[in-house]
Amino acid sequence: MAKTYITTAIPYVNGAPHIGHAMDYCLADTFARYARLRGDEVRFQAGVDEHGNKIFQKASSLRIPVQEYVNKNAQSFKDFISDLNVSNTDFIRTTDVEHVRRCQEIWTRLRNHIYKAKYEGWYCSGCERFVTQKEHDENHGICPDHAKAYEKLSEENYYLRISDFKEQIKKAIETNEMRILPEFRKNEVLALLDESPDVSVSRSTVQLTWGVSVPDDDTQVMYVWIDALSNYITVLGYPDQDISAWWPAAAQFVGKDILRFHAIIWPAMLLGLGLPLPKVILSHGFVLANGQKMSKTIGNVVDPMDVLQRHGIDAFRYYFLRHVDTFLDSDFTWDKFEESYNNELANDLGNLVQRLAAIMAKNNLEYSAEQEYCFSGEYIKLMDDFEFARAFDLVWEKVRAINRQIDEKKPWELAKAGKNSELAECLKGLVARLLTVNYELSPFLPNVTGKISEIFTGNVRPPETPLFPKEQKK
Ligand SMILES: [Zn+2]
Repeated sequence: MAKTYITTAIPYVNGAPHIGHAMDYCLADTFARYARLRGDEVRFQAGVDEHGNKIFQKASSLRIPVQEYVNKNAQSFKDFISDLNVSNTDFIRTTDVEHVRRCQEIWTRLRNHIYKAKYEGWYCSGCERFVTQKEHDENHGICPDHAKAYEKLSEENYYLRISDFKEQIKKAIETNEMRILPEFRKNEVLALLDESPDVSVSRSTVQLTWGVSVPDDDTQVMYVWIDALSNYITVLGYPDQDISAWWPAAAQFVGKDILRFHAIIWPAMLLGLGLPLPKVILSHGFVLANGQKMSKTIGNVVDPMDVLQRHGIDAFRYYFLRHVDTFLDSDFTWDKFEESYNNELANDLGNLVQRLAAIMAKNNLEYSAEQEYCFSGEYIKLMDDFEFARAFDLVWEKVRAINRQIDEKKPWELAKAGKNSELAECLKGLVARLLTVNYELSPFLPNVTGKISEIFTGNVRPPETPLFPKEQKK
């Protein structure tokens, strides 16, 4: 059995889950379910990033112990993942004792590529980062996000020598040994890699205390990179265990805003550890609201929980996997969402199931699948290329084709004319088609496809309530 390892980015738990996180989970879950149906054994990681000043400050402002704060938020992400019916096998938290210890071990193993250096520059404590002189001047010395003056700060930190690995990373990207998806982001990443400086991987404990201590230097705490990125392998047990059965990952799913870290810093770490690079890094676009980036300031943020509550999980996954492009920015509007629910899920699929099941039941017809289902070649090609939205389109075209066939074959007329064997043959053919399509739909819509299989197994009975009720549950 082939082994497939799939990862999702670990969200920073200083807030509630948003639509962007949902995209990671839905895409990765679709791929995981597809891989399982193709016979692979799948390990599927999800998790949360819990260190850093923003979390520390948020907890302090709420006057609760920081561990208590992250426990609560980690749980809300766990609940969200379960609401989305994500089939992850692992959930890692960067405050897990084992993660912390393994992370320190990773640091030690990277030591030949880490050096200490003094840096002086303009710093915003809100952003937790240094800005260039140019950025400082453009903003007239004041951080626009925090309305605070930049401070002149001089700090001694550890740096990861990205320059040790640039050539290797470049070659891996160019030869597709590490595939960057979508393809058009490849050149972007290569340009960034070219000009990428060594990255600072620690902070003085004067700046940051809520983090993993740097081994053998209690004046320094790890900054996000080594702490967070290493989760993809510490969750597999690295370095205590041999991870070669699972690593390299088949695919790592990330938002486009963090692609550069996953395509530059993370590969540098892996190469420094002597580990192979992931086979694919897939970056998805942003979900926009009426063409605009969602932002708290504009007040146009769509809460994924509201979308889930409107019509349930199938409608949620349907919209974000089919009508949101797998790779590009796409729009969410409530109108489009309602339209896709009513015209597509309810009319195309819900009615099809209802119609076929009703006429089967009325004529006391049973159904038993005579053959195992399999994916079409075209579907496999799209799924293997991570073209999920296009694969979904392909399957939906088949749903519509079955509807057209029913209209053409008019099984109700065969029933009226008493042509029983012709009727049975016609209906069984249609159900067989539906169930084949249902199988291809199942990685996208695990809930409703499970119900549909049940409806058409043995004695066929139409669902007691419509699969997609038209009245809004709001
Ligand atoms: Zn700032």
